[in-house]
Amino acid sequence: MAKENGKRALVAGAGGFIGHHLVKHLKTKGIWVRGVDVKKPEFEPSPADEFLAADLREYANCRQAVQGVEDVYQLAADMGGIGYITSNFASLTRNNVLINSNLLEAAREVGVARYLYASSACIYPGHLQKSEDVAPLKEKDAIPADPEPGYGWEKLFTEQLVQYYRDDYELDTRIVRLHNVYGPQATYEGGREKAPAAICRKVAEAEAESAIEVWGDGEQTRSFCYVDDCVEGLSRLMDSGFPEPLNLGTDELVSVNQLVDMVCEIARKPLKREYDLTKPQGVRGRNSDNSLLRKVLRWEPKISLRGGLGVTYPWIWDRLNERGRAKPPAPVGVRREPSVRVRA
Ligand code: NAD
Repeated sequence: MAKENGKRALVAGAGGFIGHHLVKHLKTKGIWVRGVDVKKPEFEPSPADEFLAADLREYANCRQAVQGVEDVYQLAADMGGIGYITSNFASLTRNNVLINSNLLEAAREVGVARYLYASSACIYPGHLQKSEDVAPLKEKDAIPADPEPGYGWEKLFTEQLVQYYRDDYELDTRIVRLHNVYGPQATYEGGREKAPAAICRKVAEAEAESAIEVWGDGEQTRSFCYVDDCVEGLSRLMDSGFPEPLNLGTDELVSVNQLVDMVCEIARKPLKREYDLTKPQGVRGRNSDNSLLRKVLRWEPKISLRGGLGVTYPWIWDRLNERGRAKPPAPVGVRREPSVRVRA
């Protein structure tokens, strides 16, 4: 770990996928970190200097969490993959409204220096995402609003709330719209997993030449961002001073079928697909326009999908293999750092 530099940060959601990676990233920069979450990270201990196990729907817990820190990274949320977020509208929306309104108010009350809110590409209007070859979404496309029900509406509402706190109380805020983040340490089973982790799990557990289930017809498109790029972007955005909403993702658009092809190739397992058209698939196409990101941060995510999956698939295969569930062949190659980059 780097020598401490005197800065103190709170990562809310530090027991979750991105929050855990962010804690590790901030520690390499010498920052003292408090993590808060209802649960500890699933797969390894948190390197946070202090880990508060607390429910952020309660105001008193939010007050305790923000005490004595300068920076708040707010990543705590009730969320999951498309199956989860489309079947829990009321509870998910209520939970996230409580977490966000209480943490924001506590941050204002104790006077934190900077506050970053993790929003989502799910805030973008549905009518702009109706075809596979969709135009990349620009930040200004968000309004007039037509976000995803439940999860998307809450994220968009909280973006507004964050801006009201900036306007009325001069809280120094950031808003980041994340696009499909993946990588090692993400949940890969149980119902909250996202498409890349779910596909890696299905391929790892499949016998050679068998078939895996794909939700929808597989022609729906997305762009995916490797978690190391994501946490680098979060930390750069915090330091940038930029207060408006900003996309953070890649613009490498692929279909779910192409995603499956890549995982099968990495796994060295040619598999058939069975399409389940009754399952939710979300919008038809979604991509990130990174023009503003490049301008504001003079940087953008660099790790290609092929490179990131080359690390993620072996990680999931190893976890399943420990429990006797992975089927051969064992993946070859990288286990830690992605080697293939989109841009030098
Ligand atoms: P995650 O589910 O792994 O992490 C969220 C964490 O919040 C979990 O550990 C959960 O226990 C915690 N949490 C939930 N309710 C809580 C409560 N009441 N009190 C305290 N902690 C609570 O999700 P993630 O993928 O790490 O996402 C982090 C943030 O980024 C979330 O706000 C999410 O909406 C946003 N985001 C993620 C993606 C993505 O692709 N992963 C995309 C867009 C936006």
